[in-house]
Amino acid sequence: MPLRKLAGPLLLMLGLPPLTYYMWLCLRYYDGALVLPTSGGAWLALAVRVPGPTLQAVVLYGGWFLLQVVLQAAGPGKIYAGTPLADGSRLNYKMNGWFALWCTLAAVAVVVAAGWVSPTVVYDAFGPLLTTVHLFAFAFSFYLYLHGMASRQSTATGNFIYDYFMGVSLNPRVGSFDWKFFCESRPGLLLWLVFDLSLAAKQYQLHGTVTTAMLLVVAFQVLYVADYFFFEDAILTTWDIKYEKFGWMLCWGDLVWVPFTYTLQAHYLVDHPHALSAATTVGILVLNLLGYYLFRSTNIQKHRFRQNPTGLVWGKPPTYIRTAQGTLLLTSGWWGVARHLNYLGDLCMALAWCLPTLFGHPLPYFYFVYMVILLVHRERRDHIACQTKYSQDWEAYCQKVRWRILPGIY
Ligand code: NDP
Repeated sequence: MPLRKLAGPLLLMLGLPPLTYYMWLCLRYYDGALVLPTSGGAWLALAVRVPGPTLQAVVLYGGWFLLQVVLQAAGPGKIYAGTPLADGSRLNYKMNGWFALWCTLAAVAVVVAAGWVSPTVVYDAFGPLLTTVHLFAFAFSFYLYLHGMASRQSTATGNFIYDYFMGVSLNPRVGSFDWKFFCESRPGLLLWLVFDLSLAAKQYQLHGTVTTAMLLVVAFQVLYVADYFFFEDAILTTWDIKYEKFGWMLCWGDLVWVPFTYTLQAHYLVDHPHALSAATTVGILVLNLLGYYLFRSTNIQKHRFRQNPTGLVWGKPPTYIRTAQGTLLLTSGWWGVARHLNYLGDLCMALAWCLPTLFGHPLPYFYFVYMVILLVHRERRDHIACQTKYSQDWEAYCQKVRWRILPGIY
């Protein structure tokens, strides 16, 4: 394999973990300012602040992961068939995320009320938790590699670094338990929500109040996570489930990146209890609701259309292009306005989650910048994948629907 192909995986695996620590250290020790050490000694002084795992962090995360496995495996849920695989077969998925969400919140309430875990534990033990989950994610990705290599599903290239990073199996399973589907949401998305609640508790402990800014950020993100579980089956038609193999990239992203960096704004607000004017509050609220509406209605429109192509779209029979493969590309509704309006909705929400932190430091805007890069890159990847898959049918769709994400601009 050419070194060029390995550069990306290596850079990401070596660069992203330090980045998550760096952002936390900036928050914790530099008031959220982006500190730039100018000498080797100064970098070292920063690095020695990175804590190792603690028994408390290991027990907390071990208990958390186990709870999520048990809820997924044993909780009641409706079975949905995934989209057809390359060989035409379909895998079944048990959807019980809504149930798991409420059970998790109840479990958290019990352990906090009983005094077994402090409500502010996330802020207090953030460093050791970050290290613990990192170690787990690296080890678990190795398990996924071995598991994939031992299965008939393996699509390994033979290069360990690349295979470890990208994964060697599309749907690694133990019996009917699907690791990718599980990790996409349960241990990471739910932890994001619990982290936010704990950070709000820390703000209350430190300042005797939960500010409007904190309430907005937490409420927006709770809405986003709850929405995911309410419409959980919509994940079956997303890129990750259909095409992405389950290796370090997805695994680390799900387990570490989501809970530890998506909570950056709430984390920042713990030590920045500023007030928001009524006009600012309303403006941010409207932006988030607009983004949410766009995101949700676009995603669900495609999902419903794929399940029932004769169902009405915006009150009319849908128009579409039938590809040579037999797949239908919707050309009416949101999917006739731009090719990825769902991404635009996500971007509006991302901005609304950052704005409550106001403009003291750029760090809390990291999520918005990251989402712009992620979704523009993702749209490009998806475009190439669809071009390869549908060739002239995709060209016809692109001619009919000119805009990629933002109508009139991009
Ligand atoms: P999409 O849900 O947009 O799925 C893209 C796929 O849909 C294409 O590959 C194609 O697959 C199919 N498709 C494309 N055009 C049409 C059409 N006109 N009609 C019917 N099917 C079509 O993308 P993602 O899976 O990337 O994203 C899903 C959601 O998740 C988005 O809202 C995104 O913003 C969000 N997201 C959030 C992230 C976060 O970290 N917060 C990270 C990533 C995504 P095929 O034809 O093969 O079915």
